[in-house]
Amino acid sequence: VAKGAGKGQWRRYQSDVHTAVLERLELRAALDQAVKEQQFMLQYQPIVDLDTGVPLGFEALVRWNHPTRGMIAPGHFIEVAEESGLIVPMGRMVLQQALNTAGRWQRATAPGALRYISVNVSARQFRTPGFVEEVRQMLHASGVEPGTLLLEITESLLLRNDDQVRADLDALRAMGVRLAIDDFGTGYSSLSYLQHMPIDVLKIDKSFIDDMLSSSQQRAVVNAIVQLAQTFNLSVVAEGVEEPGQREALRQVGCPYGQGYLFARPLSEPDAFALIPKASPFAAMA
Ligand code: C2E
Ligand code: MG
Ligand code: MG
Ligand code: MG
Repeated sequence: VAKGAGKGQWRRYQSDVHTAVLERLELRAALDQAVKEQQFMLQYQPIVDLDTGVPLGFEALVRWNHPTRGMIAPGHFIEVAEESGLIVPMGRMVLQQALNTAGRWQRATAPGALRYISVNVSARQFRTPGFVEEVRQMLHASGVEPGTLLLEITESLLLRNDDQVRADLDALRAMGVRLAIDDFGTGYSSLSYLQHMPIDVLKIDKSFIDDMLSSSQQRAVVNAIVQLAQTFNLSVVAEGVEEPGQREALRQVGCPYGQGYLFARPLSEPDAFALIPKASPFAAMA
């Protein structure tokens, strides 16, 4: 409490903290229940080719379908799930559901029509012993080709410079699984890790796309990230594309892929499935 704050203010501050702690505890208990009762569901947001608008893959995004409060977005619970460790069983369910869905979609469409399913993995989930083995088993059980799975990890996981993390990333890569850095540009990256780490895709954070049209500096930053991706032989996806002008600006700087409300919001499984091209470019060869 700031010096000179009155007694009343102190009491008030205390009770705010008290409430926040209680809310966290309640949220934690409710999340625990949610894991036990499998109250999580996924929505799928297309990632498109910016030239054609054709969806090539989808990002699976978790939602908490609370029995009385309705659908809750991850921004409200991921942090507490991470702190409490509940992110581990939750993340396992997410991966399982996403792979089962991708398997079903692949069996129902032409080869090559669904190129990938992208799944967010928290640092804590990634560092849980046995994670790589679980991924291997789930891929096998779902019948999904490892190359179809793209795992979205955060820069913070790479910056720890942890040998076990490095070994696990290499093991996933050896399996054929691809790796993306999510929210690229927002971390404290030294960029040097791009040279050494087995990364396949950079996802440019929405904050950079937001100001592309109003700020030539922001546009230059996006341009630099795209160049960087090319230098390191990485693919690149722009996140949070909302306006046609942003799509155009991204094409001009040579960014090939995008994701955002301009194309589609996160969708239910059937709505997402409806967007997958039903004829593959290779169909004529089959
Ligand atoms: P993210 O991985 O960067 O996912 C992109 C977020 O941006 C999603 O929010 C998506 O709905 C939103 N978005 C996409 N396009 C637009 C746009 O054009 N405009 C705006 N305003 N927003 C857009 P969502 O679904 O609320 O997820 C928020 C974050 O929660 C995700 O950010 C990710 O970090 C985390 N998250 C979501 N699902 C999972 C999960 O299964 N596991 C883990 N560990 N984290 C998850
Ligand atoms: Mg993501
Ligand atoms: Mg992201
Ligand atoms: Mg983001």
